[in-house]
Amino acid sequence: MFKKIIKPIQEGLLKKKQCPGCTKQLKEAKELSEISGTKKLVQCKCKRIYVWDLETSTYRRATLDEEQYFLTKKAK
Ligand SMILES: [Zn+2]
Repeated sequence: MFKKIIKPIQEGLLKKKQCPGCTKQLKEAKELSEISGTKKLVQCKCKRIYVWDLETSTYRRATLDEEQYFLTKKAK
């Protein structure tokens, strides 16, 4: 019930390139690593991790796999 209301708001914020968690501009997010030539992993000041798609210039929440990928890469 609650999720149904929250989700469109979060997606709306992401479309405006704002973090749904803290509403900060995602262009200010810290670059963590490059997933591919067109995708970058960025981290907001509130520690949430997003995938920045350079081709479409959009942001979305990183999946657990993507977060793990970065964390294991960092540990090496
Ligand atoms: Zn944030």
